[in-house]
Amino acid sequence: MKAITLLKKYQLRKTAHRLGILQFFLDESKPISQRDLQSKFPDCDRVTIYRILNLFQEKGLIYRIVDTDKVVRYAFSKPQKEIHHHEHIHFKCEDCGNISCLTDITAENFPLPEGYTIRNVNFLVLGTCKKCNQ
Ligand SMILES: [Zn+2]
Ligand SMILES: [Zn+2]
Repeated sequence: MKAITLLKKYQLRKTAHRLGILQFFLDESKPISQRDLQSKFPDCDRVTIYRILNLFQEKGLIYRIVDTDKVVRYAFSKPQKEIHHHEHIHFKCEDCGNISCLTDITAENFPLPEGYTIRNVNFLVLGTCKKCNQ
């Protein structure tokens, strides 16, 4: 998939940085931190990167996780029919480093006590993925 096609599909104006960053997400299977982006795109300032990440997140193009080293990273989210939120468990494979969405295990299924509401889910499960287990 090409970044330019996706920007069009999501009705986002195309700028060189948006294209570059989105393509980087598409090419990279591992989650990317703001610092990775900064070193990959040295001519793009922090605020621009931050805005692009926010925009992509809002559109459901990428999702945010807090990684095991406590660093916030982002990963590309396969396009869905509707804007896709990531209120489910994410699984990080400790062998290959890939992160997958376990979409069937959602926040709605969490047995929260009465009177509690969820605003944000930050759930990362560690282990070995299907591919690495084979
Ligand atoms: Zn793996
Ligand atoms: Zn997800």
